[in-house]
Amino acid sequence: MANTAIVGIAFGDEGKGRMVDYLAEDYDVVVRYQGGNNAGHTVINEFGKNALHLIPSGIFNPDTVNIMGTGMVIDLESLVEEMEALKKVGVSITPENLKISERAIIVLPYHRLQDQYEEERLKDKAYGSTKRGIAPSYGDKYMKKSLQMGYLFHQDYLEEQLGLILEWKNCSFEATYHKPAIEYQQTLDWLKKYGDILKPYITDVSKVLEEATLAGKKVLFEAQLGALRDITYGIYPYTSSSSPLAAFAPVGSGLPGLELDRTVGVLKAYTTCVGDGPFVGELDGEEADKLREAGGEYGASTGRPRRVTYFDIPAHRYGVKLQAATELALTKLDVISYLEEVPVITGYKLGDEILTEFPYTPLLDEVEPVYETLPGWKQDISHARKFEDLPQEAQDYVLYLEEAMGVPMRYISVGPEREALIVRESK
Ligand code: GDP
Repeated sequence: MANTAIVGIAFGDEGKGRMVDYLAEDYDVVVRYQGGNNAGHTVINEFGKNALHLIPSGIFNPDTVNIMGTGMVIDLESLVEEMEALKKVGVSITPENLKISERAIIVLPYHRLQDQYEEERLKDKAYGSTKRGIAPSYGDKYMKKSLQMGYLFHQDYLEEQLGLILEWKNCSFEATYHKPAIEYQQTLDWLKKYGDILKPYITDVSKVLEEATLAGKKVLFEAQLGALRDITYGIYPYTSSSSPLAAFAPVGSGLPGLELDRTVGVLKAYTTCVGDGPFVGELDGEEADKLREAGGEYGASTGRPRRVTYFDIPAHRYGVKLQAATELALTKLDVISYLEEVPVITGYKLGDEILTEFPYTPLLDEVEPVYETLPGWKQDISHARKFEDLPQEAQDYVLYLEEAMGVPMRYISVGPEREALIVRESK
């Protein structure tokens, strides 16, 4: 089917990268439509293990055109570093296979600083930001005090805009944070240094997408983070600053009128979360360590240990609804093979009530998880390539989750490698 979005159902880190990497070979164009370098995909394939923070996962397929869409915020320095790291392991990156939207927003060094200053000001009330400047960049975008990538081709315009922005920005740097003012020339130099490297890749991606769809090309939309981090529908304010929802994909890519034919929701066989905010049923101590270790649950961008718990049905069901997923990909089923019994969160206890729907954010602090326990399988499943290869208990677990989500579980991954995947119907 032509246009497909691959999106996260929960808090992010669901393993979207491996699904995009797997599916990308069937698509002509892969587009990232939101976010910046605050999260990352880890993709393992013939180029080894690579973390992608900004570049779409289709970059490993030589014939795929990769687009960094209008909805993204891009740190020029970190994009250049990422391109260099990929080139070093043999990935070909050219203006033909990587195209950056002229309307995407530039993340500047002062955004990173502002992120850090604000977290410091908040002290123990900090949001757990990755301090990559993403929230300040999106904030400035909506304040209309940003630089778009395309300004790099219009030096006078860029200089004038930067001057106006710094005048305003320095008020808060000096008065609110009591920090040194941002230096105009230094910022311009930074823009020139990295901008010159990136200019060949910057273009009107709307045109590229329009031509591609008119020619009947297939487009894959790639999201960062998951539904519960959506700026509007997620667990605000512990959200990202953009919309990782499939519905936003056409808007954030460059072709707002485009329709999706298919939305693949990626979810993990258990639940993880990075950063602060409510996380129902969070495990601690040895139980948490075991799950975290088994799943290698450390941030791809930051190395931060992720918070972990068992599969949370109300949270995932809400995510499936937000994404309007037409099919699901369950990842990391192999990780929970060590469990004697597999607990699942089936509802939330609020006073005398049992909630089965994910509640409005402030209530999340008041609820207690309700569990059901399923039998574990206690054996290595990483070689399974067909559903029938899985032990009965693992099959039952998948079918149980499929029933709870109400959407077909088409893909099941049992290891990080590209081929460690069970496909229940043709892709
Ligand atoms: P993303 O941002 O949603 O792509 O997720 P991340 O890349 O942060 O996290 C996924 C991590 O899990 C990566 O290190 C993957 O290599 C790894 N991974 C993905 N699928 C599987 C799987 O089925 N089994 C195991 N053991 N690891 C997996």
